[in-house]
Amino acid sequence: TVDAAAKDPNGISAVIPGWFSEISPMWPGEAHSLKVEKILFQEKSDYQNVMVFQSSTYGKVLVLDGVIQLTERDECAYQEMITHLPLCSIPDPKKVLVIGGGDGGVLREVARHSSVEKIDICEIDKMVVDVSKQFFPDVAIGYEDPRVTLHVGDGVAFLKAVPEGTYDAIIVDSSDPIGPAQELFEKPFFESVARALRPGGVVCTQAESIWLHMHIIEDIVANCRQIFKGSVNYAWTTVPTYPSGMIGFMLCSTEGPAVDFKHPVNRIDENDQNLARPLKFYNSELHTAAFCLPSFAKRAIGSK
Ligand code: SAM
Repeated sequence: TVDAAAKDPNGISAVIPGWFSEISPMWPGEAHSLKVEKILFQEKSDYQNVMVFQSSTYGKVLVLDGVIQLTERDECAYQEMITHLPLCSIPDPKKVLVIGGGDGGVLREVARHSSVEKIDICEIDKMVVDVSKQFFPDVAIGYEDPRVTLHVGDGVAFLKAVPEGTYDAIIVDSSDPIGPAQELFEKPFFESVARALRPGGVVCTQAESIWLHMHIIEDIVANCRQIFKGSVNYAWTTVPTYPSGMIGFMLCSTEGPAVDFKHPVNRIDENDQNLARPLKFYNSELHTAAFCLPSFAKRAIGSK
């Protein structure tokens, strides 16, 4: 039965009938499971298996190629942190690019910043956009902001075509480095990000788990230290439904006006204009705390 579960592309487990088990070679020997009330959508796009199911305790769940991308209950942690860690670290961000993030959650968070004038998003899979609008309206609400322009395509190609110094901030809200997102973790992509940012511009990327992927993180840090001549920092947060219950972020700035990621200059939580939908997770104290690492991670990352 375990083999059957491992072979099932959507991870619907035969080990515990009626449960989704997130079985993946990216986290061998472990699998987080959620009880499935009902499968709501299951199709293969040009890029990946897309599935949505109603869980019994985390609301609806979006799964791509058998890997949980977001749940209604805890997506706030990831979307708010990956967005406000960079945008609250620079004064008056105006032009923002999101790579990936097809569910629209990062767009929803970027839209909280009244200084932002233009939000571009480049998502490779239109099916993710459509599925999010259908099943996750409180996440896809980000697309309703008039400052948003959706480009459907590969983020690698999109960035190659972007004029130098275009953006104040780039957020790489990617899936994991297996499948369409693989190149978003490689050096040429980071070089194209650095070129697309203005001097003192910032990037924040989804940067895996210090419990599971320290080797990937060390490679990312080494590449970023070579490419970004401003600040380079690793932060993390808790997301219960991500493998090992956490996710990390790589925060880098290009040469130019200094960026201190650890002390937000653009504090959104005090004057969160969007009180209709107050922040659920991010605040300025948590922003600073996110950069405090366990000793094993500090040694590994600091040595790169
Ligand atoms: N926002 C999610 C969450 O809350 O956890 C995180 C993952 S988001 C769904 C990842 C997105 O990256 C997916 O929609 C996937 O289609 C997209 N993606 C993967 N590779 C890509 C590429 N090369 N260019 C653009 N988008 C890509």
